[in-house]
Amino acid sequence: MRIRARVEGTVQGVGFRPYVYRLAGELGCSGHVFNDARGVVVEVEAGAAEVERFLTRLPAEAPPLARVERVMTEPVPATGSSGFTIVESPAGGEPSALVSPDTATCAECLEELFDPADRRYRYPFVNCTNCGPRFTIVRGVPYDRPLTTMAGFRMCDACQAEYDDPADRRFHAQPNACPACGPRVRLLGSDADDAVRAAADALRGGAILAVKGMGGYHLACRADHEWAVAALRGRKHREDKPFALMAPNLVAARALVELGTEEETLLVARERPIVLARRRPGAPVASAVAPRSPDLGVMLPYSPLHHLLLAEVDLPLVLTSGNVSDEPIAYRDEDAVTRLAGIADAFLVHDRPIHTRTDDSVVRAVAGRPLMLRRSRGYVPTNIDLPVPAKRHVLACGAELKSTFCLARGSRAWVGHHIGDLSNYETLRAFTEGIEHFERLFAVAPAVVAHDLHPDYLSTRFAHEREGVELIAVQHHHAHLAACLAEHGETGPAVGAIYDGTGYGTDGTVWGGELLRGDLVSFERIGALYPVRMPGGEAAIRQPWRMACAWLVAADAAPPPTVRSRDGWEQVSGLARTGFASPVTTSVGRLFDAVAALCGVRDEVNYEGQAAIELEAACDPVEEGAYPLGPDLDPRELVGAVVADLERGVGVGVVAARFHNAVAAATAEACTRAGEGTVVLAGGVFANRRLLERTRALLESRGLRVLVPERLPPGDGGISYGQAAVAAARTR
Ligand SMILES: [Zn+2]
Ligand SMILES: [Zn+2]
Ligand SMILES: [Zn+2]
Repeated sequence: MRIRARVEGTVQGVGFRPYVYRLAGELGCSGHVFNDARGVVVEVEAGAAEVERFLTRLPAEAPPLARVERVMTEPVPATGSSGFTIVESPAGGEPSALVSPDTATCAECLEELFDPADRRYRYPFVNCTNCGPRFTIVRGVPYDRPLTTMAGFRMCDACQAEYDDPADRRFHAQPNACPACGPRVRLLGSDADDAVRAAADALRGGAILAVKGMGGYHLACRADHEWAVAALRGRKHREDKPFALMAPNLVAARALVELGTEEETLLVARERPIVLARRRPGAPVASAVAPRSPDLGVMLPYSPLHHLLLAEVDLPLVLTSGNVSDEPIAYRDEDAVTRLAGIADAFLVHDRPIHTRTDDSVVRAVAGRPLMLRRSRGYVPTNIDLPVPAKRHVLACGAELKSTFCLARGSRAWVGHHIGDLSNYETLRAFTEGIEHFERLFAVAPAVVAHDLHPDYLSTRFAHEREGVELIAVQHHHAHLAACLAEHGETGPAVGAIYDGTGYGTDGTVWGGELLRGDLVSFERIGALYPVRMPGGEAAIRQPWRMACAWLVAADAAPPPTVRSRDGWEQVSGLARTGFASPVTTSVGRLFDAVAALCGVRDEVNYEGQAAIELEAACDPVEEGAYPLGPDLDPRELVGAVVADLERGVGVGVVAARFHNAVAAATAEACTRAGEGTVVLAGGVFANRRLLERTRALLESRGLRVLVPERLPPGDGGISYGQAAVAAARTR
């Protein structure tokens, strides 16, 4: 019998056709396979039992990078064919199926890397159809070598033979290379034969090394070297924000952090994100790696170069973005050498260009599920589908901090890589270039452009500059709600507790502690945190003690000993009282800031969310008490109780825990009263593990369904996708 099978999903550029070729050969089926506009088409001919076996194994044993969403089969007349062939694709193949994310070195390539008898022994660019760079090297479509940054490298005969052989695991592996024909690594200013060994020696001696990775330059040093880590911090002008670590292997990672099953799964996954996990007491890291943080961010090597370097150093390294302060990560060679010259003692570079800058992704496990904190390398550009397909092509411009963009066509949406804060020329350029790149890669020509309500966001202005499109403004917290619903394939209605730092409200004030009832199309605000002043406006974001001041004024409470002697206290209290230069906010993020400052945990921040992170870290894990806070979310009495406890000398750990418990209980109560069966918890504040786990458990114990962002960050990295979901639903 002969069957035609149409396979849909991520099945192009992932070794699917050679896989089909091998499977058919193994089962003695004849026929052919080719790519077309919608995926892969296979025809197989053999006895009924063989064909059935073929169809069972086809989705089940698909190559690791493939994602089979659907297989549709129909019988066709037998032709008496013999042999199995891979047929050239008809023109007009859908480009969306062609670009997969960058993927960690696979086990087979690793074996070659460390096998002295292999021709790629210690070759830092070994890759195959199942692994290696993809998104970061693609310059255009179709995804073919000339349109990648490998274009300048001509394959040698041996590589070309692998590339051309359907039975080879490097069949059509676009970045295929070897020491004879591919990119080379070198240590700038050194003539060492083995650049990686020389770099490793420098690292072991305490040097700071700039290393060109997959999506950009990293800065590396020994994680256990106090002087080196402190010097790196000083030279990078990065005060407190924790540094990520790369451990040589899983055993070394276990010595750094406590790893549950979920964390280990994330750590070894082919996306290779940075996994935030609880620091082990006595972990061999310098104190400057992550000051005051109970967690460490750890990842495992993901490129052959990392594998070689880490195997050689055999110690955990700090591996942080190659930049100064908050600038975007450097990825162009000349620019990197200029910008990082004052930081790095040496540069380990190579000559394979990076086309798109991508940062490492960051993820945390909460209650046994992944919680994405930064979605970039390894995950981008995998599509995340929309529950309501976009009738016209959509561009969604996102927010301002932790910015991403999103393009949508039909039921597919592509969220771009993490761009960072859209505050300077570099990030704005990365944003606009990224959008153009995605428009080409995925054949999206936006007719609808969604943006935040905030009139002054650069992303909003960018949207307004697009001509001949329909503009759709989406309220910030509605976008958070919609993003979470849509990634779970839902359309609502639901009630959402959306807690974050800042979002422009429909009334022009600063929202950030919102109870919304809504669906993908619209929402109503059914509750909000009691509004207070932000004394001095933006300054109150950088200086949590100002928010402490505002909350004490609102609660009519006297300052506790932790803050009372602070310079400027009287003046700022005056601003809070009169409202001069002090906009009103309902932000839960700012309430966390205020309590952190009252507790003396942090009165000024030098990275976003720092006060809340340190307040969470301070929590006494066994404290079960809670301050008074009702479902009306008016924390004035709570603030009074915090002050009374602090006056009484109650420990900060207990106060912090009682505060978290109160917010969780009040949130659960408020959501329950809304009377919807489904609850969404989203917004950057829910990156807080204690708050999220408690709120979720309380809601679930009452029989409610709780949806939490998983594949996209709860913070503003998910906003663009939420805007796209709303735009698609509204233009239906
Ligand atoms: Zn491989
Ligand atoms: Zn070669
Ligand atoms: Zn937000």
